[in-house]
Amino acid sequence: MNSFSELGISNAYVKALKELNIIKPSEIQIAVIPKLLETKTDLIGLAQTGTGKTAAFGLPILHTIDPAKPVVQGLIIAPTRELVQQIKKQLFKFTKYLDVKIFAEGVYGGEQIGKQVSALKRPTHIVVATPGRLLDLIEREAVNIGNVKTLVLDEADEMLSMGFKEELNKILQYNKTKRNTWLFSATMPDEIKNIIQTYMSADAIRIQVNKNSMVNENISHHFVKTKIADKTNVIARILKKRKNERGVIFCRTKAGTQNLVKQLQDKGFTVGALEGDMKQKERDKVMRAFKNEKLQVLVSTDVSARGIDVNNLAFVLHHQLPDHINYYTHRSGRTARGGKKGQSIALIIPGEMQKVIDTQKALGIVFREIVM
Ligand code: AMP
Repeated sequence: MNSFSELGISNAYVKALKELNIIKPSEIQIAVIPKLLETKTDLIGLAQTGTGKTAAFGLPILHTIDPAKPVVQGLIIAPTRELVQQIKKQLFKFTKYLDVKIFAEGVYGGEQIGKQVSALKRPTHIVVATPGRLLDLIEREAVNIGNVKTLVLDEADEMLSMGFKEELNKILQYNKTKRNTWLFSATMPDEIKNIIQTYMSADAIRIQVNKNSMVNENISHHFVKTKIADKTNVIARILKKRKNERGVIFCRTKAGTQNLVKQLQDKGFTVGALEGDMKQKERDKVMRAFKNEKLQVLVSTDVSARGIDVNNLAFVLHHQLPDHINYYTHRSGRTARGGKKGQSIALIIPGEMQKVIDTQKALGIVFREIVM
């Protein structure tokens, strides 16, 4: 199975996924999506973050929604505000090209409940929530879960270790409709087994995927702390140390790409630019020079980098981390091809550590600091 269409995902979603650079289904997506689309079933997924599990349950849940009915049909419960926001954001992006919109709302503790109560008065098809806040909203009758067809428990073990056992039990009892329950957890402690026994069907499908399957394991991830004004010098030092190796530097803008190329050329490095404003002829010329090893480094924007298919690249440098995590996967995947090892190095300025932490969490990878 090489595409989401083959898994049964409809075209409007496939188009949106493509824009997010989600093109080849991950292991868990291949295992789960066709089953959830074909049959009404309970599901137990042993999977960590970074495996693509959000899309693995998010796309099938979207397929179950009847947008003509303005009632909550899907309920996703997750441990933290950040995860709720992340799931809601992904669902929103997946639905970009739908003809008839599906609306998802995210509710979580730590924010004024009044705002969430009024948000829920709009037609809402899917609610993504933390357990405590959801229970509060149910008890205030601000949300009705009586029509829920699919209930997802994401990171169930996290929810229990955060002390949400009682809330979860209450929610699972409140919702008495004939629903399907899909539970995802990285571990299976006894408390989870209890939930499965009490609330889920005995013939639930069970699947297990190992660790993170999205990022190539031969890539090591690093960051270097620096300041904006020092970035070019830091890059020059890294390139000098690796003068016998080739790599790609990613910049976020076309102007930034050209600027950096000029600065590095002035310092004597053999570098070429690849960005969207260049004519095809110029781009071909640069690619040829890079493939022939006449250039040590290509400086590229994310979009232009799609065409880079060069073996033996030892490193990828991020002038700045990309906004979207998928681009990190895509960028770093330029290196460590064909079973070789590669390094992915991000330049980080003060205030950007959170981005490193978010990337680690989303992709299930670990960054190490390089001190220059
Ligand atoms: P998750 O495990 O759901 O938290 O996903 C981790 C990251 O991988 C998210 O940024 C997803 O958007 C991204 N992602 C999910 N599925 C794929 C895929 N098939 N190919 C590339 N990236 C993906």
